[in-house]
Amino acid sequence: MTSDQTPRAGAILTVDVGAVVANWTQLRDRVAPAECSAVVKADAYGLGAARVVPALAAAGCRTFVVAQLEEALAVRRALEPVAPEAQVFSLGGLPPGYEGEFIAGRILPVLNHLGEIAAWRAFTASRGEVLPAVIHIDTGMNRLGLGPDELDELAGHPDWLEGINVRYWMTHLACADEFDNPMTGEQLERFRSALARLPKAKASFANSSGIFHGADHHFDLARPGCALYGVNPTPHLPNPMRGTVRLDARLLQVRNCSAPMTVGYGAAHKVTGPARIATIGVGYADGYLRSLSGKGHVFVDGVAAPIVGRISMDLITIDVTGLPENVAQAGRMVELIGPSRPVDTVAAEAGTIGYEVLTSLGQRYHRVYVSGE
Ligand SMILES: *Cc1c(COP(=O)(O)O)cnc(C)c1O
Repeated sequence: MTSDQTPRAGAILTVDVGAVVANWTQLRDRVAPAECSAVVKADAYGLGAARVVPALAAAGCRTFVVAQLEEALAVRRALEPVAPEAQVFSLGGLPPGYEGEFIAGRILPVLNHLGEIAAWRAFTASRGEVLPAVIHIDTGMNRLGLGPDELDELAGHPDWLEGINVRYWMTHLACADEFDNPMTGEQLERFRSALARLPKAKASFANSSGIFHGADHHFDLARPGCALYGVNPTPHLPNPMRGTVRLDARLLQVRNCSAPMTVGYGAAHKVTGPARIATIGVGYADGYLRSLSGKGHVFVDGVAAPIVGRISMDLITIDVTGLPENVAQAGRMVELIGPSRPVDTVAAEAGTIGYEVLTSLGQRYHRVYVSGE
């Protein structure tokens, strides 16, 4: 799986673009006849948008979602040779004075408040054109989007949308991953009642988990992110998605210790008897979160070895006392993330979510892109 070709890097990050595509295809089939976009913000959740975007476009994805204009322009460039007609939208609104960049880059702005709607309308008027945009209605997040008062105002002034081709009305779910939380149903009701008061256009509602709440949550366009990258969108059930990343690192050194020695910064791990400690060249500077200190395992030839002591900037220490000496040897590759230790497991051990583990993956790894099975 991971060859020994790269001793120059401390670790090898293998990204299975084929698995990302398979995950998208699964979600596309699940939401059909609604359309399935791909949320590729934050460099495709850390996996590398330059590789992920063309692969998804080749598989038929025609809508890409990012958070910022700069990201949108990079996605547009990645799409150019494969699917120049695809639509790209940028969730973070319309920075004043940048209207022309959206048009030049063929990026759809997501208009989040009445000020942005007015600015886009003024821009369309100045060009004498009808221009497309997405409009975000807040149904409970209280971050971005038209709040209830703004919605009332807009519903009472349909002329404020003159010159704007509303591609989608969209909203975003707060608790979709908690399948017994009534909030999702409340947001669905608020979204439906908002749509009933607004000019007719397509609608977009569900993120990854939202898709699994059923067809009445799909509307016209689903917006999955995390599930594409293998994070479980249904945490109460086995993960229906394929893992997409694998992180393997080389054992740099293996040493014998005995009580009363300690390991690493803060002398945080105390050796209680004869022990063998191995060191790996990955640390928090690589996005291997420091909160994983003393938590969880890595896998050496499929055998679990506990992480001991603090995660430092460049190094991790593991206890390989229980492993045969010919297995736990310097030079051996060990699995930190992969089939034995999925992203969600690492996240739970770190006290965070898979999204953060993925988007933290560092730039020091030797990255290998494969298209598995
Ligand atoms: C990030 C994001 C998504 C994707 O959410 P996932 O939970 O990763 O599927 C969808 N819509 C909006 C508005 C987002 O910000």
